[in-house]
Formats: sequence, structure tokens, C-alpha cells
Amino acid sequence: MIHPMLTTQQILKGCKKCGKTLKGRSDKKFCDDYCRSSFNNELKSVSNNLVRNINNALARNRRILENLLPRDGQKAKVNREKLIQQGFQFRYFTHTSTNRKGNPCYYCYEYGYLPLENNWLLLLKREEEE
Ligand SMILES: [Zn+2]
Repeated sequence: MIHPMLTTQQILKGCKKCGKTLKGRSDKKFCDDYCRSSFNNELKSVSNNLVRNINNALARNRRILENLLPRDGQKAKVNREKLIQQGFQFRYFTHTSTNRKGNPCYYCYEYGYLPLENNWLLLLKREEEE
């Protein structure tokens, strides 16, 4: 008969950092403070990387829109494919707004686009407002 204190879960449960079998209290997650702090530091650096990657993607998106827009403040019609080819990532934008017709505009900082039909986009720069 299996000892009631040694359920399979407890036997398999190891330190979250190094995987070593834990002794002592059943709610223990780490063998010692060293494992605890290095585990937490790794978690932190994973989320720092995530923030950095998203910031980089937003900055790249912004640069791509900026480069495709004429300097004179005119709007430009561009195909979605062209943006993707340049590394534009549509899932990242800073905010949205709706125009007078109720269509959504997606912005990466002051540059944005309004989706049109057939994968065309109208690129625009936010007017000074507010
Ligand atoms: Zn450990």
C-alpha cells in the first residue's frame, strides 16, 4: 500500500528551478533561496524581453509607415503586402480611433492606417489635435 503522505504528485514535484526533489513542507516550491531568486530573475528577464520585443515591433511599424508617407503631409494608399514585406506586424499598434464614417484607424504613435477594401490601406499621419 502506498503511504498516504507520498502521493505521486508529491514524489514527482521538484524544485521549480533545478528540478531536485523537495524535502520538507509540501507547499515548498524551491530547494533554497538561491533557486527561488534565480527562478524569479529568469521570469523577470522573460517579461523584459517581451516588452523590448513589442517596443521594437512598434518602432519598426512606425518607421515603415513614416517611410511610406510622402513628406508633404499627403495620405498614401499602400497594399497590405508591401507593409508585410517590410516587416510590418499588424498585431502591434499603440491605439485606435474611428474616423467620421466610423471606420477604425490603427496607429503606431502618430502614424496610422485605415483599412480599405481588397487589402489596401490608407496611410496617414495624425493631425495635431486636442
Ligand atoms: Zn533548486
